[in-house]
Amino acid sequence: MKSSSFSDRATDLLSQLISLRTVNPMERPYAGTHPVERPVTEYLQDLFQRFDVEVSLEACSDLHENLLIRVAGTTSAPASLFESHVDTVPADGWTDRAFTPRVEKGRIYGRGACDDKGSLAAMVLAVLNLLETGLRPPQTILLLAAGDEECAQTGICHFAKTHEEQIGRGVFGEPTSCIPIIQHKGTIRWDISVRGRSSHSSEPQKGRNAILDMLHVIDRLQTLQDELTQGHSTTFISPPTLTVTMINGGQTRNALPAECTCAVDFRIVPGMDCGEASRFVIDSVNSLGLETVHGPFQCFAPPLSTSPDDPFAVAALEVCREQLSKPVEMTSAPYGSDASRMPPGGPAIVLGPGNIENAHTIDESVELQQVVDCARIYQRLMMHDWST
Ligand SMILES: [Zn+2]
Repeated sequence: MKSSSFSDRATDLLSQLISLRTVNPMERPYAGTHPVERPVTEYLQDLFQRFDVEVSLEACSDLHENLLIRVAGTTSAPASLFESHVDTVPADGWTDRAFTPRVEKGRIYGRGACDDKGSLAAMVLAVLNLLETGLRPPQTILLLAAGDEECAQTGICHFAKTHEEQIGRGVFGEPTSCIPIIQHKGTIRWDISVRGRSSHSSEPQKGRNAILDMLHVIDRLQTLQDELTQGHSTTFISPPTLTVTMINGGQTRNALPAECTCAVDFRIVPGMDCGEASRFVIDSVNSLGLETVHGPFQCFAPPLSTSPDDPFAVAALEVCREQLSKPVEMTSAPYGSDASRMPPGGPAIVLGPGNIENAHTIDESVELQQVVDCARIYQRLMMHDWST
């Protein structure tokens, strides 16, 4: 396909995807009668209907669904997974224009432009281009338009649990400015509650103040943060972080608080295990001798730990350098993605058009040239014979 038509097509496709609202309610009430992703999954089903590919809609929960497009390869080698997510964060503060895409000076604006419909458009374009030119990939291509990445990752988790076919490698589209991310942090979140004993505030000595006890917990978390930072030995990725993000305690102004709860967000780095890392923090807090209760994990996502020497990562980097005609290097990210939920069997990288700083913002945008470049990068990765 000529680059002008490729660019026009990227604009049309991405505009369509932005105008189809797929806002994840993010635990807010949801009034829709169909899964969040349905407008886009329906559109993609129509788009691929005329080709000899398997298209399957997978329900992940009452609220979310995935669409899987499977392009059979010419060999029985393990498949290549290309995943982008369909859901977006809400568009509070700019609903008047968030779903009316506009193109200005080579950029397209709208909710999901870079997170994550730019990547989805580039992956779809790459597959369409292969199919229209009659090219058959050496390895089977699995194009997964996934649901619910922004909240609970039920889309990729459902896929990893139910898809039995062997997968040799995964490319997860997220805004990385077309630079391959091979490592990112994992996330563990839970609540810590401290129980005290209430009394009238005129006689605090008769009770036990749970808020004061919580100060000891927070102090311990800060000590652990300092230890984690000191023990971190690589510059490739920033140190683990242990952050108190919310706090709640007390019932009235004239009584000692009987309970105080804080929310903990723990970002772990490659080499750390979710179970061991959380146990380390919990044991340390418990050793304070306070009456503490640890709530269930709301998030328990491992880090992405692909080696810089992995042959797939090395080859992907080379493809990016050639396509972008500049000396890019593999990198890491402090945030998480579906890539760390890659089914066992192969390495994963995160790679897509757009800058993460534009994600989740008002007037989110992506540079169209990056969408085109990334579509070409994806296409080359799809046609690469990974058995040699
Ligand atoms: Zn995203």
